[in-house]
Amino acid sequence: MKRLSIGLRLTLWYLAIFLLAELIFGVGMWFILRQNLYDIADQALKDQAADLERFLQARQNIPTAQLEAELSEDYKIESSEDYLQISDVADGSIYRSRFLEEHPLPPLPVDELGKPRYENRKLGKRRFRFISKKMVAGQHVYIVQIGHPMHEEVETLDDFRRYLLWFAPILLVTASGVGYWLSHRALAPVDALARTARTISGHNLSSRLEKLNTGDELQRLSDTLNEMLARIESAFLRITEFTADASHELRTPIALIHTEAELALRRSRDASEYREALQQILVESDRTAKLIEELLALARADSGGEALNIQSLDLVTLLKESATKWAQVASLRNLQFEQRLEAQRLPVMGDKNALRRVVDILLDNAFKYNSSPGSVHLSLEHKGDRAVITVQDSGVGIAEEEQSKIFERFYRVDKARSRAQGGVGLGLAIAQGIVTQQRGSITVESRSGNGATFRVELPLIATPVRHPLPA
Ligand code: ADP
Repeated sequence: MKRLSIGLRLTLWYLAIFLLAELIFGVGMWFILRQNLYDIADQALKDQAADLERFLQARQNIPTAQLEAELSEDYKIESSEDYLQISDVADGSIYRSRFLEEHPLPPLPVDELGKPRYENRKLGKRRFRFISKKMVAGQHVYIVQIGHPMHEEVETLDDFRRYLLWFAPILLVTASGVGYWLSHRALAPVDALARTARTISGHNLSSRLEKLNTGDELQRLSDTLNEMLARIESAFLRITEFTADASHELRTPIALIHTEAELALRRSRDASEYREALQQILVESDRTAKLIEELLALARADSGGEALNIQSLDLVTLLKESATKWAQVASLRNLQFEQRLEAQRLPVMGDKNALRRVVDILLDNAFKYNSSPGSVHLSLEHKGDRAVITVQDSGVGIAEEEQSKIFERFYRVDKARSRAQGGVGLGLAIAQGIVTQQRGSITVESRSGNGATFRVELPLIATPVRHPLPA
């Protein structure tokens, strides 16, 4: 089922809450008014009863017939609308005012009248409030019942209820209209943001959502979305640049292969010329294969941990294996290669091949950007809960302003020189990708012309494994 819009839902909530508030208010007010009207009527009845009691006590010794006569005279003249009934408990004689003659009240046992009783009665078509009270005057005990017609009070209550019933729907409709308008007004910027957001695509990622200055959640929302757009834009730019750089780097060796083959085929040549051409083609195709391999490694680093085969491994063993291979390279290049590795095993959780690649990249660079006589130093130490691999060389070094950029993809400090040495500027980016994936860090310290020191830190496994690791 399609959900209602937020604006409509807010309005419905508003309506429901308003309806409930109106109901509680209306019913509450009606009861308070009713109670007040009854209190006033009861007070009037109480006063009348007190008057009558005084009257009866003043005439406690006169015969009943005379009392009746006086009552008729006094009460009927005073108020022709009186509703009075007095019954003498002892002799049963009863005085009733005119209306009650026609609508007699039911008899009331005296023992039920410990204290005055107030009650509502309907006589004929009329409503009354009655007080029933026991009065003692000398030898006589009377049960006195006085009525107060309630038609005015009932009318007032009916009027009040009518007003409520009339005004409640009007108020409700007005309130829901105002509620709808308010919610629409409040949510209008969200609609505007959504409209702008819909127009943003890969082609106009530099566009931004309208800047709101409302100082509320909506401003925070638009600011957050704009920040997110900025991040997406820079990631998008990085990818576009990367694709352009990668295509460029791939095009160069392929163009060289093409040219070499074309030149060789232009006319017939002797075997040595063909061999030379084929060798050149081999060099370039190796370079292409290496580049593709590096691009794949980067893609693997980007895709997150799934591409890795994480297991516990001993860094000392891993570095010893690499060092053996690089010692041969050092002697070929006439460079001094020293290694200082921890004697104790240093177990880490990591991908063996990926970590080996990191070490190879750093050592390759250390030899590449170095010249004879020079040195390369590889060390592995245990520092707190981390293992630290250091590759130090005595080569050309890296200027300070370049140091933050060398980890970027395709970044080379000396473009011509790096390319001649076979690098396309992906090695350190790959190394950083792998190390970060394995919760480590890589840093560089260097001064131009004074060699460079690369440091890789990896978290050690919390409880060192005592027995040898499986191969
Ligand atoms: P490349 O394949 O070009 O070596 P890297 O990403 O490994 O790419 O290195 C990026 C750049 O950083 C290199 O082009 C080089 O200029 C510089 N660099 C890396 N390692 C060293 C080092 N040990 N000494 C001097 N410069 C280095």
